[in-house]
Amino acid sequence: MSSIDFEVDLGDTERAIQETVHRFAAEVMRPAGRELDKMPDPQQTIETDSIMWDAMAKFGELGIDTLGTIDSEFTPAENARIQAIICEELGWGDAGLALTMTTQGGGLVSWLANMSGREELIKRYGGNNPKEIGCWAITEPDHGSDTLAMNQPHFNDPSIKANCIATKDGDEYVIRGQKSSWVSAAPIATVMALYCTIDGNRGFEGGGVAIVPLDLPGISKGKPLNKIGQRSMPQGEIFFDEVRIPADYMIFDQETYKTALHGTLTLANSWMGVTFAGVARSAFDLANQYSKERIQGGKPICEHQSVKLRLFDMYRKVETASTFARKVSIVNNGTDQGKLHYAIASKTYATRVAFDVASEAVQIFGGNGLSKEYPIEKILRDARASMIEDGCNEVLSIVGAADL
Ligand SMILES: Cc1cc2nc3c(=O)[nH]c(=O)nc-3n(C[C@H](O)[C@H](O)[C@H](O)COP(=O)(O)OP(=O)(O)OC[C@H]3O[C@@H](n4cnc5c(N)ncnc54)[C@H](O)[C@@H]3O)c2cc1C
Repeated sequence: MSSIDFEVDLGDTERAIQETVHRFAAEVMRPAGRELDKMPDPQQTIETDSIMWDAMAKFGELGIDTLGTIDSEFTPAENARIQAIICEELGWGDAGLALTMTTQGGGLVSWLANMSGREELIKRYGGNNPKEIGCWAITEPDHGSDTLAMNQPHFNDPSIKANCIATKDGDEYVIRGQKSSWVSAAPIATVMALYCTIDGNRGFEGGGVAIVPLDLPGISKGKPLNKIGQRSMPQGEIFFDEVRIPADYMIFDQETYKTALHGTLTLANSWMGVTFAGVARSAFDLANQYSKERIQGGKPICEHQSVKLRLFDMYRKVETASTFARKVSIVNNGTDQGKLHYAIASKTYATRVAFDVASEAVQIFGGNGLSKEYPIEKILRDARASMIEDGCNEVLSIVGAADL
């Protein structure tokens, strides 16, 4: 099944990009993702000889920017559509690597740098330089869901104390504290989009967003986290001991923080939607193929009625998630009609579909579905993580509902 079955009017360039990324996903990401997943110590995944670097280098060679303009001849909506198709293909290849690859070139940091209007930052981080790996850190040891719920009453509660604070000192900010062990790509990142508190009297609302190069004095990193899913994406905490940044690296301050967070979540959740539609599709494809090969009761299991019904239900879910997530990506990233609750609907729906379809796929694989010799149990674990990632689905839904 292809992610573009449901598209009309795709040009040759768009088809060629989709085919190239699909081949990359099948030939590079799938085997690398499985190898990384099996490493018992997550530290191994980031060692210099890790296959992750090889996969990242090959992704860099494709010259694909998952965030910026794909082709200047395309309209913004066409660019957004092809970006969505690319992210879905990457998700089809391997969830953890897909998300790691979107950090290559800076990811969210490039977006911030290009918005900053500051020449030095645009030059260093705005141009999709494959040597720069970005991460975004908002959650903290004591604060997960509540950091993202910007339209909920607790958001301006000063009694909720942040773990990471930036204090203005002349023409610099001094950063103290730490971010949670869940910061994606932090163990390998060169630069961070730091969402921290500036004015604690206003609670989370008194926050700011800074670009922080991770080679500054006072920064240290924890060990990569050991976890059940998306093991091909390294995650870890970052500590700040009196770290100084120029004041103009604080791209948003307490006056604009909520707007910045709103925009960030709109972008990030749109990405998550299309990526996990790809994960759902990968589970369906594997189950569909297996059902044609596995003989039980004298015929391939796809000929048994209950398996047919299960497969068709999975197919329907994959297509609705994919079509909806792509539409949201086009509207949110390619037009000026973007809305946060579209992005949240896409993320929460596609991640749920990915988990449900992966679970059904395990059932179709039977006992083999539980075996590490087969690829499907990994996809189930990867999909499970996505319902917590970039905001728990429950809390995101509460945030989205407030905008209806
Ligand atoms: C794979 C992965 C990648 C991640 N990447 C990043 C990253 O790049 N950067 C980063 O900063 N963080 C990242 N995170 C952290 C992620 O955003 C948080 O885990 C998430 O926001 C939930 O926070 P928590 O884990 O502290 O759970 P908690 O906030 O403690 O929530 C625990 C449970 O309580 C429920 N709950 C909490 N508050 C409410 C409420 N108000 N109403 C109803 N239910 C509630 C939740 O739904 C959940 O079931 C990542 C997490 C994962 C799993």
